[in-house]
Amino acid sequence: MIAQAMVPMPSEPTAAELAELLERQRAAYQRLGPPSFAQRRATLARLRAAVLERQDALAAAIAADFGRRPRQESLLAEIYPLASSLRYTLRHLKSWMRERRVPVSMELWPGRAYVRAQPLGVVGIISPWNYPVQLALLPLIAALAAGNRVLLKPSEVTPLSSAALAELLGAVFPPEEVAVVQGGPAVGQAFAQLPLDHLFFSGSAAVGRHVMRSAAHRLTPVTLELGGKSPALIAPDARLDAAAASILYGKLLNAGQTCIAPDYVLVPAPLEADFVRRARDAAARMFPRFAGNPDYTAIVNERHWRRLNGYLEDCRAKGGEVVPLSAGQETPDAAGRILPPALILRPTPDMAVMQEEIFGPLLPVVPYGTLEEAVAFINARPRPLALYLFTESAAHRDTVLGRVVAGGVTVNDTLLHFSAEGLPFGGVGASGMGAYHGQYGFETFTKRQPIFRQARFNLTGLVRPPYGRKFDALVRWMIGGK
Ligand code: NAD
Repeated sequence: MIAQAMVPMPSEPTAAELAELLERQRAAYQRLGPPSFAQRRATLARLRAAVLERQDALAAAIAADFGRRPRQESLLAEIYPLASSLRYTLRHLKSWMRERRVPVSMELWPGRAYVRAQPLGVVGIISPWNYPVQLALLPLIAALAAGNRVLLKPSEVTPLSSAALAELLGAVFPPEEVAVVQGGPAVGQAFAQLPLDHLFFSGSAAVGRHVMRSAAHRLTPVTLELGGKSPALIAPDARLDAAAASILYGKLLNAGQTCIAPDYVLVPAPLEADFVRRARDAAARMFPRFAGNPDYTAIVNERHWRRLNGYLEDCRAKGGEVVPLSAGQETPDAAGRILPPALILRPTPDMAVMQEEIFGPLLPVVPYGTLEEAVAFINARPRPLALYLFTESAAHRDTVLGRVVAGGVTVNDTLLHFSAEGLPFGGVGASGMGAYHGQYGFETFTKRQPIFRQARFNLTGLVRPPYGRKFDALVRWMIGGK
């Protein structure tokens, strides 16, 4: 087994040190107030320059953390989303910040109503390891665009990436504006108990529960970006070749360690064998081999390696069939933590792969009879973070999308709803609460301050006591009807 990258872990901050950091940010916010549009634009431009300048160094840190992660994958899935988000935010920020007049009904004339975008103040972000740079900085961009100060706690599982983030953000921001706090679950727990103005968490549902509990103590509002089992549903009329290729791409990017990776696939029973053949072809086209292939990512650490191999043993023990997707029938490379992908046929509900989020390159294939049965299968489980539907039929699309409540949907491909800046990204039910990306991210970190400004001469005096005939007539007019 390869050793995890040896990095001297920075000493973990105590709860008192965290509180002090927060106080410093809060005091700076109180002193200086919300940043102007020009200041926010300059901040985001500086962040953009720093990310672009360090893109290769960030990719190298991630690769070292994982043991192997192609530079190309990091550029596509870490740097590109950041560049795209910064571009989009810089283009739209002025209009998001604009004060909006709201019409008022005649009774309130000639008062005026309007809504202002107000930063929340100091917000916290806790991020996971699977896309360690992107998932830390995307919410940070939204929080800064909205005018907040930010405390960030990246994952301890990818310490080199966390150190690279700390270096990058330390070069761009003073700690009163953005501070990085490093550490594991104990620090995460103390972090979630801070009196933050908002807490944005990406990670597992299990830890999400702890986070929400910790935040509840202070009534800190939370956004929870969680995971779960995201189904890919192949309708009977789908283009099977294209569906298999998209599903395998979505599954094998980052070796399946993606929150919105298709977790399992629902296939019409008569097409199962055909799907297996096409899935194997699709995998072989992208990855002629897995061992020694720099295009294929390693499993992040030994714990996850054991977890995934345990799933395979569990499947075999319970009568499932494991179909390797590597052309050369490669066996797992434990030393490099390279796990060749596999389909799992005849999965049963009691198998771990059908109960837990897989988060690795294993894909259970679930045959179904009618489309209604497939929908019922999905709806009998917690609400998924993503749904992938493959169909050419508008009727099938309406049936499925009308009945399944999922965090986000891509039709006839996988993953791409994440990349459309104008779409909200977030889970529903067990897959999370709240959303970000584009304007939705700005709103998550903004208090929409509603303001009514009374005019000097107005009618409200007429509805105050002492009540009399004038009041009666007026209130009758206000209520209307009859
Ligand atoms: P995790 O929940 O184990 O850890 C996430 C973060 O929480 C880490 O920084 C960790 O240190 C911190 N943490 C751990 N215990 C804590 C506690 N008690 N209180 C506060 N913080 C604590 O998740 P992970 O293993 O890093 O990431 C994988 C999971 O995240 C998967 O379930 C995946 O689907 C999900 N995920 C979701 C999204 C999304 O956007 N919805 C994105 C990426 C990953």
